[in-house]
Amino acid sequence: MYDVVIIGSGPAGLCAAIYAKRAGLEAVTIEKNPMSGGQVLNTYEVDNYPGLPGINGFDMGMKFREHADKLECEFKTAVVLSIAKGQSKEAGFTVKTDEGSFDTRAVVAATGAVHARLNIPGEEEFTGKGVSYCATCDGAFFKGRTVAVIGGGDVAAEDAIFLARSCEKVYLIHRRDELRAARVLQDKLKSLPNVEIIWDTVGEAIEGEDQVEGLLLKNVKTNETRKLAVQGVFVAVGVIPDSNLFQELTDRDEKGYIIAGEDGICSTDGIFAAGDVRKKKLRQIVTAVSDGANAINSVQEYLLRLKVTK
Ligand code: NAP
Repeated sequence: MYDVVIIGSGPAGLCAAIYAKRAGLEAVTIEKNPMSGGQVLNTYEVDNYPGLPGINGFDMGMKFREHADKLECEFKTAVVLSIAKGQSKEAGFTVKTDEGSFDTRAVVAATGAVHARLNIPGEEEFTGKGVSYCATCDGAFFKGRTVAVIGGGDVAAEDAIFLARSCEKVYLIHRRDELRAARVLQDKLKSLPNVEIIWDTVGEAIEGEDQVEGLLLKNVKTNETRKLAVQGVFVAVGVIPDSNLFQELTDRDEKGYIIAGEDGICSTDGIFAAGDVRKKKLRQIVTAVSDGANAINSVQEYLLRLKVTK
């Protein structure tokens, strides 16, 4: 019987693993990808994490994992299929995976979030044929080409900046007349001669024969439509919490975020939430790691109340 099963190995899960180990808890972190780090792995540059200015996201993910490995935290690569609640608090939970089951007294949901989709014609058809959700993964295929990034948040701005290094031209398509991205990213965007922001505009359809050849745009203020010739469309319209596993287990908000305070405590005893899957205001790496620490602190207090730890 584990004290805690941590599901997810992004910054929140890795920090929870580190704190659990240091607290002397019997803990295992289950990750569906063989590489830890979560969304950070696909970030070209992280410039707002104290002490590590300008660090490459992939390197950061590796550093977090190395730290956990140094402490000999236990990891398991597996896909969680279900989480069953026992008859009593003492009975805990059974986390069933495609690699076996894990009995545990507590569960930390650190499952993060997945890319939101536009749900416009052509998006699904051309995914992998010019439509991408990850600029750092696929940007190299568009060297010297013209591409569009759709979105107005940090990720869209970061993607446009990253793509501008190798693409001839980058259009940033945003549905409003103001970006929500951090000011420092907005200033950088404006300084790049090959980035053009198209305001008040949404993508209506992605078009092409075998590969993306164009994007049909609509100005939401004038309703005018026009076609933009692009070979790539990078979709960066936010994220959806990866919380389906917890649907029957604990309260979520209307968007699917797990409802928990800063302490990670959920509506169901023994379930804790950390990182991007938790309902909160600021989703950053620094808040994800602090969530991981807080969740384990709450797990410790919970286990003490159950009187099951040494
Ligand atoms: P986000 O901040 O939610 O921004 C999503 C953007 O997409 C918004 O500008 C939104 O427009 C737009 N959008 C949403 N649905 C749309 C649609 N159907 N059509 C057109 N546009 C649409 O998401 P994100 O940029 O992916 O970032 C996710 C979270 O990670 C954020 O909290 C962000 O701050 C965080 N993040 C942190 C770091 C870091 O810590 N270094 C780096 C990257 C991201 P509106 O503005 O009109 O709503």
